[in-house]
Amino acid sequence: MDSQPHILVLGTNFAGLTTARYIREYAGEKVRITCIDRKPYLTFIPNIPLEVWNNNNPEQSLHMGFIKFLDRDNIDFIQAEVRQIDVESKQVEYTPVERLGSAAEEISYDYLVIALGNRLAFDEIEGFGKYGHTFSDTYYGDKVRRYLHGGGYKGGPVAIGSDLFVQGKSEKLPDIPVAEAACEGPPVEISFSMASWLEKKGLGGAENITMFTPAEVIAEDAGEQILEQLLPMVKEMGFGYQANTKGIKRIYEDGIEFRDGSSLEAELKIIFPNWKPHAFLKGLPISDDQGFIVTDLHMRNPDYPEVFAVGDAASVTVPKLGSLGHLEAEVLAKVIGKEVGGYEPKDSIDPLKFKLICMGDMGDHKGFYMHTDEWWGGDTSILKMGYTPHMLKMGFKTMYYTLGGKIPGWGMPMSELIADHTVV
Ligand SMILES: Cc1cc2nc3c(=O)[nH]c(=O)nc-3n(C[C@H](O)[C@H](O)[C@H](O)COP(=O)(O)OP(=O)(O)OC[C@H]3O[C@@H](n4cnc5c(N)ncnc54)[C@H](O)[C@@H]3O)c2cc1C
Repeated sequence: MDSQPHILVLGTNFAGLTTARYIREYAGEKVRITCIDRKPYLTFIPNIPLEVWNNNNPEQSLHMGFIKFLDRDNIDFIQAEVRQIDVESKQVEYTPVERLGSAAEEISYDYLVIALGNRLAFDEIEGFGKYGHTFSDTYYGDKVRRYLHGGGYKGGPVAIGSDLFVQGKSEKLPDIPVAEAACEGPPVEISFSMASWLEKKGLGGAENITMFTPAEVIAEDAGEQILEQLLPMVKEMGFGYQANTKGIKRIYEDGIEFRDGSSLEAELKIIFPNWKPHAFLKGLPISDDQGFIVTDLHMRNPDYPEVFAVGDAASVTVPKLGSLGHLEAEVLAKVIGKEVGGYEPKDSIDPLKFKLICMGDMGDHKGFYMHTDEWWGGDTSILKMGYTPHMLKMGFKTMYYTLGGKIPGWGMPMSELIADHTVV
């Protein structure tokens, strides 16, 4: 290995950006760091619905340029499409994408961090392109904004929910629960905030909206205690609710047909698809049967110890939540920092401790906050609703943009402290 090991981080959104910057903090100048992403900005996905309700183009405010933060930390950036990983020769093939026609190149690494997120498989849902809507990136966010505010939506029934998630399997993975939907915070959040938007527009409210899930229960990862509060509330507010759909068969002009044989009438169909790994990751010796990257709870591949994964691309990240990726980034950076001699902890480095932290908008300046580890066998289960969670959600974005994704150690616990113990 080079006297200054080269750390290559693939993907520079939530998980990759934070990991690269934390590695610089824990490893200091003992390493050289390069990030690769096809775009030179981070997409701040969780706030897309808020911009849509306020009729703001999310492309305007939710693309955070990160080059200045990487420069500040002396991290190189390559704007390119990652094509292939060869874990035997420790090489990654990429094609620069700033202009078409660039030739393929290769780059070698001493440590590889895979933070490429996933491919959201809308293209596998028949009828989605013509009849579906979603909030998963700024393109789709702006499309639904134009539809809602531009007179396309006529006030008919709305269906909001997820397709079946196929979680990866490997005997080398730690024991983790199995989910049937990749991330159900967003459909729940969008149902609440859309009900408030409909009321404001005089187009009805919760009674127009049906939440659906492929699983036995929506947001199962929130744990039983939170669901015992949430589900009766959903019904009391007047939302429709359809569980056990087993996934989406097709979307058509007037509704959705599910794999359990049922269907749902809807003018507006807001869909979250299967989170699928990128095709070039499937079949690699570091991947599970779907193509998610196998790691232990220090985010390291058991067979190729120089390979790590964080965020949605990692098998253990279930549900697919940015806040889990954030926790993983810190664990990983400490491990590499210690290994290269930049970080000397007194004790051993704690493995990832799973917890779900989710701050959602409910419209009208109110929000919800969930903090739980019950799904993973813990005993924390906190659900709060009111003005404070909304304020924290907005504050989190400001803090994120100011600090370029490097939320200090106290940033997350401080949010937890405020939300766990106060509510306005
Ligand atoms: C509507 C919505 C709301 C959400 N709200 C929350 C929330 O409130 N809290 C929360 O914790 N999570 C939330 N999530 C989930 C969160 O957005 C994801 O968990 C998070 O974005 C995952 O981060 P990541 O960096 O692992 O992957 P991604 O954000 O998907 O980033 C992957 C990066 O890799 C790049 N990339 C991919 N393939 C290639 C390639 N071949 N070559 C080059 N670059 C490539 C992409 O350009 C991208 O920058 C929400 C998700 C949605 C859809």
